[in-house]
Amino acid sequence: MNQSDFALVADALSFAAHKHRDQRRKDREASPYINHPIALMRVLALEAGVQDPLLLCAALLHDTVEDTQTTPDELAERFGPAIRDLVMEVTDDKSLPKAERKALQIRHAAGASERARLLKLADKICNLRDMADSPPHDWDLQRRREYFDWVAAVVEQVRGTHSGLEQIFDLAYARRP
Ligand code: NDP
Ligand code: ZN
Repeated sequence: MNQSDFALVADALSFAAHKHRDQRRKDREASPYINHPIALMRVLALEAGVQDPLLLCAALLHDTVEDTQTTPDELAERFGPAIRDLVMEVTDDKSLPKAERKALQIRHAAGASERARLLKLADKICNLRDMADSPPHDWDLQRRREYFDWVAAVVEQVRGTHSGLEQIFDLAYARRP
């Protein structure tokens, strides 16, 4: 990665940390939200050996539009249209009812771009790990199981993209409670 790519990734980390600064994850300790985008970047870069700066930036930014006031235009202006488009590919439409959003993720996953499929895999790996290690404090066993099942249905649609990431996913899924 050259110096300007590294600078872009550092800027994405700084931007995401600022945008998520008041948010927490749903685990009992209410961990800082930014730990989750950092975990995606770590899975991609360290565990799967992905060096693509666009993908690493999008990993850091992937929940900014869905979960903060960030707009797609803001992402395009600061990080360029390719990163905006990639983030938008993995952004749910929060105006839809939750069940519909969940069904759409399964339906749209197969048609996603290659980079978006890698991003989805990393997101699902990290969320299954969180669900196994530090789940939302008020979720019962059935709800955690249903979450694993839904994630598996999404990931079935993106298989054949990156065997290394898919193996990492399978290890995370094997911890289904
Ligand atoms: P949600 O989408 O509301 O919650 C899961 C999401 O929360 C993750 O995808 C992740 O998204 C984020 N998250 C934040 N903290 C954590 C953490 N510590 N561990 C894991 N994920 C975290 O889930 P659903 O409401 O859809 O529930 C899942 C299943 O349970 C569904 O299949 C549903 O049918 C069933 N269910 C739902 C009920 C409901 O009231 N909604 C009630 C009973 C069952 P991100 O990466 O975007 O941060
Ligand atoms: Zn996420």
